[in-house]
Amino acid sequence: MQLIWFRQDLRIQDHAALWHVTQAGPCIALVIISPEQWALHHDSAVKIDFYLRQLQVLKTQLKNLNIALVIRRIPFWKDVPQGILQLTQQFNINCIHANIELGVNELKRDVQVQKILDPYNKALELYHDRTLFPVGSIRNKSHQPYQVFGAFKKNCYERLSVSLPQCYPQIEVQAALQLDSLDDEPVCIFADLYPNQPSPELQNRWPVSEEYALTLLDDFINDKVTHYEKERDFPYLDSTSQLSPYLNLGMISIRQCIQALFRQQQGHFHIAHLGQQTWLDELLWREFYQHILFDFPQVSKHQPFKADTKRIQWRDAPEDLAAWQQGQTGIPIVDAGMRQLLATGWMHNRVRMITAMFLTKNLLIDWRLGEQWFMQHLIDGDLAANNGGWQWCASTGTDSVPYFRIFNPVSQSQKFDANGDYIRQWVPELAHLDAKTLHEPYARNSNLNLNYPKPIVDLKQTRIRAIEAFKNI
Ligand SMILES: Cc1cc2nc3c(=O)[nH]c(=O)nc-3n(C[C@H](O)[C@H](O)[C@H](O)COP(=O)(O)OP(=O)(O)OC[C@H]3O[C@@H](n4cnc5c(N)ncnc54)[C@H](O)[C@@H]3O)c2cc1C
Repeated sequence: MQLIWFRQDLRIQDHAALWHVTQAGPCIALVIISPEQWALHHDSAVKIDFYLRQLQVLKTQLKNLNIALVIRRIPFWKDVPQGILQLTQQFNINCIHANIELGVNELKRDVQVQKILDPYNKALELYHDRTLFPVGSIRNKSHQPYQVFGAFKKNCYERLSVSLPQCYPQIEVQAALQLDSLDDEPVCIFADLYPNQPSPELQNRWPVSEEYALTLLDDFINDKVTHYEKERDFPYLDSTSQLSPYLNLGMISIRQCIQALFRQQQGHFHIAHLGQQTWLDELLWREFYQHILFDFPQVSKHQPFKADTKRIQWRDAPEDLAAWQQGQTGIPIVDAGMRQLLATGWMHNRVRMITAMFLTKNLLIDWRLGEQWFMQHLIDGDLAANNGGWQWCASTGTDSVPYFRIFNPVSQSQKFDANGDYIRQWVPELAHLDAKTLHEPYARNSNLNLNYPKPIVDLKQTRIRAIEAFKNI
């Protein structure tokens, strides 16, 4: 008997491990729930809820394929190898199939699983599924990993022009198996572990299922990708795909995205317009950060990529941090973004950059505190992309923004939310102000009577302070 172990890949279409297991023989499926371990990784309640809702869907989908799903609760990953061994003995399993997870702890866990299985002649077979190209396979002429996105992207383009990664064929229904009781854990009990359950409105904001994710993808490719290059930076527009939670929790695959992007070109790598190219580049940023996480695992251990930036003297400023977290900094675009995050579990990319730059440069607060806050609240929280985004904004990362190129949040706001529609939505106490005043309400009249804080910092002075802090390392 074979076992398919689902992790961050709760889908049945285009799934590397699922395809291979069904070729190898009859199988059952496993999902391990580890809320205590997830809490150590700062996974947000909205993300866990999203995962558990999809798990219910997966269970039904697997049932239709005659694949029984065992759900086991193992609080910490250190206990997973033992739990897996027991399961292989209970169901007489000789091979486990799973897709590779790239985090350091995840890779260590899998090594331990293999070790415990070895004496019993049982195997753990791992497959590349999360990225377009296997991690470790994209190398420069000196066989070293790329550290700069431009060169990495060029290499990816060359590979894509040879052939686009293909999706796996549809899984066929297997013959029904006679199994003992699975004595698995009901999914709903885990609600007890998350006292701040997302509201039904928030759950409706993020429906689960592969079908839904594929519809989102189709709608984006049919209606939005053509204008993506021009519109993606405006947070008041609904012009990006919003697929990040689905890609991150594996409700859709990266191959499905690439195939959809080149559908009109009959699956050939031919770039027809700038929107298509720009979206491809965003998918490759995702790819880049996954490869960085694998090749430079120190980034997931709270280390900056650029070693010299360890010497930056970050400020210990809990009140400023709290103001930023709660969207009370007095800088409207920053507060709008932080409130969007708290309300929806998602934030527009441009505003992620603005809020992260504001925290790390204007407030000179350690990027790791921002990275953690984002993980604790994002529905799409992904170690590789989140770390990459934070280190880019903090100028500590691989290919990050130079430390002296500091975004001015007010100019960013005037440029990307000129009419203030985004700010009005998330900072309703400013909604009555005209578009000129809105971005910087107290600039022309510091006595304006508003139920809204004054800026907690002076943007010009703090810009100079940040540049000095980086110069001094
Ligand atoms: C400080 C900071 C933190 C971030 N944290 C995360 C995170 O935890 N999880 C996450 O998925 N993305 C993260 N991003 C990247 C980006 O903001 C989101 O992927 C994007 O906003 C998701 O919206 P979308 O699906 O509509 O993206 P689209 O614009 O439609 O892009 C398509 C897909 O490409 C990928 N992508 C796009 N931009 C990036 C990028 N800059 N880096 C990596 N992948 C990208 C995502 O998978 C996204 O779904 C972060 C960016 C910053 C600046």
